[in-house]
Amino acid sequence: MLDRLGNLERTHTCGELRESNVGEKVVLMGWVAKKRDFGVLTFIDLRDREGITQIVISEETDLVAHEKAKIVRGEYVVAVTGEVFSRAEGTHNKKLATGDIEIHVHEILILNDAKTLPFELEKAGSQNLASEDLRLKYRYLDLRRPTLQHNIRMRAKAVREIRTFMDGLGFTEIETPILLKSTPEGARDFIVPSRIHSGKFFALPQSPQILKQICMIAGLDKYYQIARCFRDEDLRADRQPEFTQLDVEMSFANQEMVFRVIEGMFNSVLRLIGVELPAQWPRMTYAEAMRRYGSDKPDLRFEMELQDLTANLAGTDFAPFASVIEAGGEIKAITVKGKADYSRKQLDELQEFAKRYGAGALAWIKIGEAETTSSLLKVLGEEKIGELANAAGAEKGDAVLIIAGRKPVVAASLGALRIEVAKRENLIDRTAYKPLLVTEFPMFELDEESGHYMAAHHPFTSPMDEDLEMFRIAIEDESQHHLLGNVRAKAYDAVINGYECAGGSIRIHQKEIQALNFKALGLTPETARERFGFFLDALEFGTPPHGGFAAGIERTCMILCGTENIRDVMAFPKTASAQDLMMDSPGNVDPHQLDELGIKVV
Ligand code: ASP
Repeated sequence: MLDRLGNLERTHTCGELRESNVGEKVVLMGWVAKKRDFGVLTFIDLRDREGITQIVISEETDLVAHEKAKIVRGEYVVAVTGEVFSRAEGTHNKKLATGDIEIHVHEILILNDAKTLPFELEKAGSQNLASEDLRLKYRYLDLRRPTLQHNIRMRAKAVREIRTFMDGLGFTEIETPILLKSTPEGARDFIVPSRIHSGKFFALPQSPQILKQICMIAGLDKYYQIARCFRDEDLRADRQPEFTQLDVEMSFANQEMVFRVIEGMFNSVLRLIGVELPAQWPRMTYAEAMRRYGSDKPDLRFEMELQDLTANLAGTDFAPFASVIEAGGEIKAITVKGKADYSRKQLDELQEFAKRYGAGALAWIKIGEAETTSSLLKVLGEEKIGELANAAGAEKGDAVLIIAGRKPVVAASLGALRIEVAKRENLIDRTAYKPLLVTEFPMFELDEESGHYMAAHHPFTSPMDEDLEMFRIAIEDESQHHLLGNVRAKAYDAVINGYECAGGSIRIHQKEIQALNFKALGLTPETARERFGFFLDALEFGTPPHGGFAAGIERTCMILCGTENIRDVMAFPKTASAQDLMMDSPGNVDPHQLDELGIKVV
């Protein structure tokens, strides 16, 4: 028989009581995290969201309570009334905030029982967890784990901090609709059929991009929103089909003004974990980031920069390198300090890793104590190998890893290898936080398959003033179309520790340039009108210069919580294959719902 709570109220949480409370009569409620039965004495670890308190039920103190305690099992919900005692000498638990005290119980109420859990919550840290799929199916149980409790609350704190910061700067929080029209962020839309307008569809926002720009046209001046975004992409490990971002737009703003908001916002959020970032973050152009780190989101917690060996190999008769150079490619290297003892097997593994990013092969040089060895020794000779090692900044004891190929492939593979090696060799200072603003992103990306230029950010991003002339020429003169690849945009990303945590741009606010941009993207005036007519109209009624950014809430919380798993910072995430295992969705719908919508599943 279960007890009733009646009017009983908690006096304290399970994380609260200390030595100074000894002697107090208290009421605690929570879940049974653990029970140990020693005959006359029963110990219970009682858990709520604040922590764990040790409960002692003794035959001597109360016979009824002691009998009841025998029934209690893991995850039963109980209320206990008792007195705070200092723990006996030698039994204090330093690992527990409440480890100096225990409650000697007078009364115990069993408020609910619980079936045996399908998995153990948290044994020794997060290493020993049950499979993630099982935990997602029983998400309400997984969420009971202290780690997730902490993360979910940290997320709430971060969002509150963001709101306080943005409000303080005079930004207005404005909600925009979820039932919307297609927004161009480069992903597939989730679409929602309209019942009232049969055969027509809404799209869920990939972001509130167009609406926040319209807020600027509407004179709202400073907008923000904690906005839910939906993108139907093939998921990568750290993506979710729906996610949340701090979405910001401001009028009469230049890049530096936007940067001050980004810096201030992240700096105040990072203070939640006691991290003080520099008031002004370092800035780096996209071109420099790609050249030095092979990445537009470099992790600056360690060095190991990419070294260019192309000039040293000019005129080489080693065919694989010669053909790369002739085709305009490059040969670059990273130097791994103290790893002249890389084994054949390790080098093979690194080569396999680099190949996943498109590299053809991984060449190496090892400067050992006695001799220098290299996969290139036979073809390039001792002297050249020495020169290359030198150019790569390698010294005795170091290893040089070399990749040749097309520029994007070398950047992607060597950039990824740089991080992989840093992880393997433990070169990353886990206590460091290194922010960076990456600027001057390319305006367009060439889609290799179709040969078309696509918006690298989104089609409302402004080209850099310096590149405006080139932009015009590239569009007006068919033969100069390739110049689009060189046009830089007023687009930027905020990066912390190698994670892109925000991105944005100064927008096009003049309709001529917007029209040019649509042309560059291959949109006919008719298609542009059909898709964004309302927006083009709005642009004609006095649009102020404006710009903004969006910061990923999940990404930010991952940094705050020190996790690389996006699902650790969301209450109800989907799996990597976009399913909700708890609710079992997506699922079927009633045939009559489909009839109403005029939809047939084929
Ligand atoms: N709408 C962009 C995004 O969601 C951010 C921005 O340009 O403000 O990535």
